[in-house]
Amino acid sequence: MISALFRNAVIYSPVDSPVPLSGVTQGHVTSYKKGALFCKNGIIEKVGEEEDVLRQLSSDEVDMEVNCEGSCLIPGFVDPHTHICFADRREQEFSLRIAGTPYLEILKAGGGILSSVHAVKKASEDELFESTLTHVLSALELGTTTIEIKSGYGLDTETELKMLRVIQRIRKETPLDVAITFMGAHAVPKEYKENPDEYVRLMIEEMIPAISQQGIAEFCDVFCEEGVFSVGQSRAILEAARKHGMKLRIHADEVHDIGGAKLAAELPTISAEHLLAASEENLKAMAHAGVIANLLPATAYSLRKPYASARRMIELSVPVALATDCNPGSCFTESMPFVFGLAVMNMHMTVEEALVGTTLNGAWSLGMEKKVGSLSVGKQADFLLLDGESPAVLAYHAGVSPVFAVYKKGVRVA
Ligand SMILES: [Zn+2]
Repeated sequence: MISALFRNAVIYSPVDSPVPLSGVTQGHVTSYKKGALFCKNGIIEKVGEEEDVLRQLSSDEVDMEVNCEGSCLIPGFVDPHTHICFADRREQEFSLRIAGTPYLEILKAGGGILSSVHAVKKASEDELFESTLTHVLSALELGTTTIEIKSGYGLDTETELKMLRVIQRIRKETPLDVAITFMGAHAVPKEYKENPDEYVRLMIEEMIPAISQQGIAEFCDVFCEEGVFSVGQSRAILEAARKHGMKLRIHADEVHDIGGAKLAAELPTISAEHLLAASEENLKAMAHAGVIANLLPATAYSLRKPYASARRMIELSVPVALATDCNPGSCFTESMPFVFGLAVMNMHMTVEEALVGTTLNGAWSLGMEKKVGSLSVGKQADFLLLDGESPAVLAYHAGVSPVFAVYKKGVRVA
């Protein structure tokens, strides 16, 4: 297909800006009641009210025409935070957890993140690819057209590289745009329990240089938390990654306010994740430094925790993006429609703010804002058709996915 015209759609899209959308612009969305979108070779060439778009087109320019029959058309979702490359499910652990079994007992029973590490080490590269592919294709069905995927269930050089190769293969063999993150600092491996600094040294001296030399990850992420990696250790890892040309992200202040958000603002990182316990002062510092808050409401839901204070962040002009955090432990979902619904219902974001959070701000947090995240001329024709008249249906029609068609670069892929 060379060119395609999608007409008779109710179009909603975030409005592009030179910076991520925050504060009053967090909900900056434009809409066309009877809209049309014209794309050529996968790139949007015209978008607007149908009569305006048609006036600018001659019929011989259009190879294919799709009548959207009044359904809602929005940009494809950008999921900027996942751990979707894994080899095991932890359903039994989930059952124990919801029955109230303390985490330490779960660990003793062989559960927790280290069981995922064990499973990834054991899996062949093909097995790990197949498992990852299943979940990534499920995300695509649910409307995710751009996804970030982290390593971090390897925790040794060889297995981290294996994960990154698998994620590279997902990038090559699926229609999705994939951002790749090295997260060797996801947990302290068992062998280094007594001497975590030694593991930090291994990452800085061996893993990061090897990954940078192979050019197989653009981002580096760290789990900065009490009992995992301290602020000092996180800083050392992220600074080393930056020296090797990687962009930075950080799991910050999820459980305890240990200063992860402050570190994010100081470095600065491109995004900071979770932020359930981040202090007001450190959120202000993030806003000042332009750090994007990647909020993960499905994790709060799954862990029965209070939600991050999205409203306060928006008041403080911190740009908010939304992500699934898809992983086999704390939050097993590939569904951005679910995340959208939670953001609106439980974090009190408006529909427009959640639309920006699930598309354009996510693209900003992956450095892909010029390519995806909104329906602007010159960007990829990545979009969804929804069974509804506005993006509100994503929260309104609960527990299902209203996404019935997914287009990537103008081609229907789900
Ligand atoms: Zn995470």
